[in-house]
Amino acid sequence: MPETFGFVPREPLIFEHSVPGRRGVELPPLDVPEAELPPEEYLRDELPLPEVSEVEVVRHFTRLSQLNFAVDIGFYPLGSCTMKYNPKVNDAIANLPGFLHLHPYQDEATVQGILQLMYELQEWLGEIAGLPAVTLQPSAGAHGELTGVLIIHAYHTSKGRRRHVILVPDSAHGTNPATVAMVGYRTVSIPTGPDGNMDLNALNSALNDDVAGLMITNPSTLGLFEEHILEVAEAIHSVDGLIYMDGANMNAMVGVAKPGDLGMDILHYNLHKTFSVPHGGGGPGAGATAVRADLARFLPVPVVVKQDDRYTLDYDRPESIGRVRAFYGNVNNIVRGYVYMRMLGREGLEDMSRTAVLNANYIRAHLKDVYDLPYDRLCKHEVVFSGKRQAKKGVRTLDIAKRLIDFGIHPPTIYFPLIIEEALMIEPTETESKATLDHFIAVMRRIAEEAETDPDTVRSAPHVTPVRRLDEARAARRPVVRWTPE
Ligand SMILES: *Cc1c(COP(=O)(O)O)cnc(C)c1O
Repeated sequence: MPETFGFVPREPLIFEHSVPGRRGVELPPLDVPEAELPPEEYLRDELPLPEVSEVEVVRHFTRLSQLNFAVDIGFYPLGSCTMKYNPKVNDAIANLPGFLHLHPYQDEATVQGILQLMYELQEWLGEIAGLPAVTLQPSAGAHGELTGVLIIHAYHTSKGRRRHVILVPDSAHGTNPATVAMVGYRTVSIPTGPDGNMDLNALNSALNDDVAGLMITNPSTLGLFEEHILEVAEAIHSVDGLIYMDGANMNAMVGVAKPGDLGMDILHYNLHKTFSVPHGGGGPGAGATAVRADLARFLPVPVVVKQDDRYTLDYDRPESIGRVRAFYGNVNNIVRGYVYMRMLGREGLEDMSRTAVLNANYIRAHLKDVYDLPYDRLCKHEVVFSGKRQAKKGVRTLDIAKRLIDFGIHPPTIYFPLIIEEALMIEPTETESKATLDHFIAVMRRIAEEAETDPDTVRSAPHVTPVRRLDEARAARRPVVRWTPE
């Protein structure tokens, strides 16, 4: 692990590389009759384009790419986001011509291979969830949530009733109450008790027959498994509500516990977290959603089904919630998730979850004497510390995050979950080595030490980046992309 960034390019705008007359491409001499140009008023001859050679274009953009951070550059413990390594074999297979050149309007007879892959993936995800009916349509975790809550709505509609409330614990991911609102339900928030579990008394007093269901993030955003999950399920089912489990972070549970066995009715996965599909930067995700057998009739169309030896896309589902997107899901990412699962196999997947949990607990055990740990119990895939102790010395969690950059480490998620003061949410994932975890622990301990002895160094970090502290709101709203030395 490098101590600091070695080569930090000071990159100007591509327009500043421009030299009049320089070209990146050369067109061959005209060998067809010259055609007449459109009328003058449609043509511009003063387009402000940079005039640069091919070499300059490649170097400019490659240098710009080096100003960014990525999983392929260093440790990226961004809690809840599961920034695990994305194996390159996933890309190699997803880019095989047979997958790459598929077209959604092809006849089913010519796409049996991809349909078989999707069918098998549905089966595996159904088995892992203990919820056998699966759709691969949703394009993101939040999109899986939307699909799931629309299914909750369809369920109650099929029983001829209208309900208005969905319960959401305050340790849920922010997309959960947002989804509730999008489907037109009202969120009633359930507080977290002192042990990090849902407050069961609060849950019971919120229950009535206007409750359509519960959305629970499990493990919660505290990185904790809900220990009363069976009682919670029983309570919700006692009013014939449904339980949606946000399984974005199933990387803590795959092969170890089946949500269906725990009384969960609907669950989404983030293939772009748990199953190593690349994500971030708003790229395409894959939020496969699994439901109880008797809810299968509500799944969005089409669903891949198998009849004898043939795979088909089933649109004939009169109770379906309808379409949630065009065509069949982000197929190239579905292929990546499938490849990862095949590479690891049954035991490998279980090992994945166990190692993710072990790594998070390793960090928990090695940092809890220097950072406050609000819920000191075994965590799942991530651990949430509080920077409260450092804040008393005038070093905020934001400063700690910025200081990590000086050591080539991406900051963890900060100030989330909201119920933890000065939160530092750390998710190492299973793909990191013990050496990397030890380096991270050593750096975090050093920063805690600096907070005591040299707080200014932490407060003024980062020190080795091309830009230092940005006004983050202004940087997003009014970006200044021109390089000016500080
Ligand atoms: C990441 C995440 C989501 C949202 O997933 P997107 O693909 O970004 O929509 C939802 N819930 C939890 C717990 C998550 O970690």
